[in-house]
Amino acid sequence: MIHDNGQGTTDPRQPTRHVLLSPFSFLFVSSRWQAAAAAAWVPWALLAGAAMGWLAARVQPYFAPLVVFPVLVGLLLSMALIAGLRVCSLAHAPTTFAGAVLAAVLAVGGQHYWSYRAACDAQAGAQANLDKARRAFPDLANRLMSPPPPAGTVEYLRAEADRGRKLFGHRVRGRGLWSWWALEAVLVFVAAILPLVWALRRPYCIRCHSWHRASRSGRVSAAVASELAHRCGLPCPKSAGGGAFRLLTCRSGCGPSLFELSWADGGETGRAWLDADARRVVAAVLDRDTLNSEP
Ligand SMILES: [Zn+2]
Repeated sequence: MIHDNGQGTTDPRQPTRHVLLSPFSFLFVSSRWQAAAAAAWVPWALLAGAAMGWLAARVQPYFAPLVVFPVLVGLLLSMALIAGLRVCSLAHAPTTFAGAVLAAVLAVGGQHYWSYRAACDAQAGAQANLDKARRAFPDLANRLMSPPPPAGTVEYLRAEADRGRKLFGHRVRGRGLWSWWALEAVLVFVAAILPLVWALRRPYCIRCHSWHRASRSGRVSAAVASELAHRCGLPCPKSAGGGAFRLLTCRSGCGPSLFELSWADGGETGRAWLDADARRVVAAVLDRDTLNSEP
């Protein structure tokens, strides 16, 4: 949600008014339906979910630490979803959460489906070896029977549940294993959704439909940090150390910019919205005194 103070001052001696970000600002980041952005992002989200399911099924036989693995799957999926939001400039929260839930469903379901396909492939390989053995040693091999391949994903999961899996030193079967799979699915969902909530809290310009990006960042001395804090109306602790700042602006610079100032000695990061005039004042101070500034 953009808070436009709109009344910035050109007098550099006067502090600029500011509005802090609400902790629930992600719910209101943009209530406007964005058809073009959604048409680009939703297919990306579904593709990312399906790809994550495939990747998880491939990696699982070699590396799948309990609890950690589903969280990693969810976090990777979330990173892909957030990257898509930035590229597509989508900020419509309902679309984002609906797409993320569908992507997580595809990731969890896809992981089981591709595990089933891997089991089918393994079964086919075993059958091929058995056929070779039959041709070489007909009497011996005819007594060997290859179990039939699972008829579908659900049948495969049922067979796996009957067979059981070792969890925390115990062999878990039946409902216990189904419950474990449900818990893993919840972990994937939570790990995929929570970072999205954080990502949607980033400022978004509803005029030019773009996420704010850091246009300037760097470190400043204690004296300059104090001056910036004063001009932006931020609290100014008595600090001997310097500070670090970031100036977040939208793509076309049409809306207010968010100025963030953190202190080397710790403490809460100060945030202030700057209109065009206040931004010029802050930029003048930074141009004069910034140390190690990055463009
Ligand atoms: Zn803008």
